Amino acid sequence: MGVRHPNPRLVKVHRNYSVEEVARLFGLHKNTVRNWLKQGLAAIDDRRPTLILGQELSRFLHERRQKARQACGPGRIFCIACRAPRVPAGKMADCTATGPLAGTLCGICPDCDRLIYRRVNLAKLDAVRGDLEIAFTQPRPRIGERAAPSVKCDSGEKAQAHEDA
Ligand SMILES: [Zn+2]
Repeated sequence: MGVRHPNPRLVKVHRNYSVEEVARLFGLHKNTVRNWLKQGLAAIDDRRPTLILGQELSRFLHERRQKARQACGPGRIFCIACRAPRVPAGKMADCTATGPLAGTLCGICPDCDRLIYRRVNLAKLDAVRGDLEIAFTQPRPRIGERAAPSVKCDSGEKAQAHEDA
């Protein structure tokens, strides 16, 4: 762990790093660092050997982490423990409204069983819910909005059950 998301705090912002030094710092292959240079990590200049400012390296790694967090597609919630977006167990999540337009999705990480949370804009919930089954844990403020009972079948329990064998 930690290799895929190197900790920017290991970087000393006031020094320069060669590709080899960055690789050693994080225990990565040099090619990974070269790849970062292609992905937007800026070298000091075009001269060889390539040198990277600590400050720039730190910026790049922070940004990468940010992106990894945001790359949480529809139907996924980021697990802080696993450091990865996860489809919550059972594809289920609870949604708790925290404001008129804000809410928090809560599910269970299928890998580590921890609760995972994702803040959502309720107006854009459809864009992030994916194929999750979402239960709203707080009743809407308006009373009597829905008189109909919830999804459960209330009409005499077993009356509706199949009687054929
Ligand atoms: Zn997890």
